[in-house]
Amino acid sequence: METTTNKFLFENNLAFAQNLDKEDNLRSYREKFFLPQHNDTDIVYFTGNSLGLQPKTTQSYLQQELNDWAKFGVEGHFLAKNPWLSYHELLTDKMAKIVGALPKETVMMNQLTVNLHLLMVSFYRPTKQRYKILCEAKAFPSDQYALQSQLNFHGYSTTDALIEIEPREGEYHIRHEDIYEAIEKNKDSLALIMIGGVNYFSGQVFDMKAITQAGHKAGAIVGFDLAHAAGNIHLELHNWGVDFAAWCSYKYINSGPGSVAGAFVHENHLANTNLPQFAGWWGHQKETRFLMDKTFVPMQTAERWQLSNAPVLSMAACRASLDIFDEVGLPALIQKSKRLTAYLEFVVEEINKQKNNCLQIITPKENRGCQLSIVANGYGKALYNDLIANGVIPDWREPNVIRCAPVPLYNSFEDIYRFGAILSNLLK
Ligand SMILES: *Cc1c(COP(=O)(O)O)cnc(C)c1O
Repeated sequence: METTTNKFLFENNLAFAQNLDKEDNLRSYREKFFLPQHNDTDIVYFTGNSLGLQPKTTQSYLQQELNDWAKFGVEGHFLAKNPWLSYHELLTDKMAKIVGALPKETVMMNQLTVNLHLLMVSFYRPTKQRYKILCEAKAFPSDQYALQSQLNFHGYSTTDALIEIEPREGEYHIRHEDIYEAIEKNKDSLALIMIGGVNYFSGQVFDMKAITQAGHKAGAIVGFDLAHAAGNIHLELHNWGVDFAAWCSYKYINSGPGSVAGAFVHENHLANTNLPQFAGWWGHQKETRFLMDKTFVPMQTAERWQLSNAPVLSMAACRASLDIFDEVGLPALIQKSKRLTAYLEFVVEEINKQKNNCLQIITPKENRGCQLSIVANGYGKALYNDLIANGVIPDWREPNVIRCAPVPLYNSFEDIYRFGAILSNLLK
């Protein structure tokens, strides 16, 4: 049986899936990752949107720094093969490319929620007139807590000052027109728009360029949480004029649990000395940092927001992955990602026909990255547990959503076929 889904011709059988893999010129990259095992076969790993898999090269990147630490002690800051004093700079160019930023607008530091707070210290500056924050309803919990606590910190309550845009009744994603309408309606009191570039729950991708334009027109600052966007979709933070952004590196960017996060500040703000910020010694101009003077002289790059000396071990893991990204190039990954995701959509729809339409994909057809969020009507968390028991790792979100992210670096078309076959068996 053949159907067209998003321009692709697909069939739901093993030979067809294997043939798609054969035609895939990125297929060899799967070999560069450790795939968790179940009964001596590769698990169908669909949670690269939660924790990316480990590149096989990561150990050697880490070992290099462990060796240099053993050999040089503190002198490793200067004598290590990759001197630790400037280690974070080794990540900047490759990371900047992934998010469409200038290198000077990009820095790897801290962790995601920390970076959101540090950036809001500078970019959420409420006044009597302008104090509201606009975000998407049901944002990732950490983002909600960050926004709430920023509001409270400045003496505002969420009821007065937080505008949450929800999907309409009976719908799963947010309509952009509703975002623009809320911006227009609050244009005199809006201080900040802070949205997840890709919603973690529904997989919806927001039009960051248009939202930035609408926000700026209303006189607001616009920032994005790119946890589910970085390394997944095409980004042009610089060209879109986004004011600031932050993201983690352990989801699509495969840098290991809790690894170092990214931050972006648009070039327009870098030299603005009136911008308040929390400061630490690593944000001080590097030429004079070690004079240990008591006056903070900020760098004129995004590094200005750095507080502490860099976590070299987690950065080493991040470098291993960035080198792979740089070799493949995001455009090629996105091309494969579209095909993989379309195939997953096709397989789910084929199964659905045989299972009384109990499955519903709530991710938009157009505005999406590689994640599909699937509601299994009539099934609870037991279905997810059964998938795990059968060698699939998807992700479960209450109350009834299974998130599947076929990641182009290491997932195959065969993974998708196998997932479909297992899922089909588990459905009545
Ligand atoms: C994964 C994720 C986080 C996690 O925050 P950490 O500070 O890295 O623990 C925050 N926000 C969003 C939108 C996420 O997807």
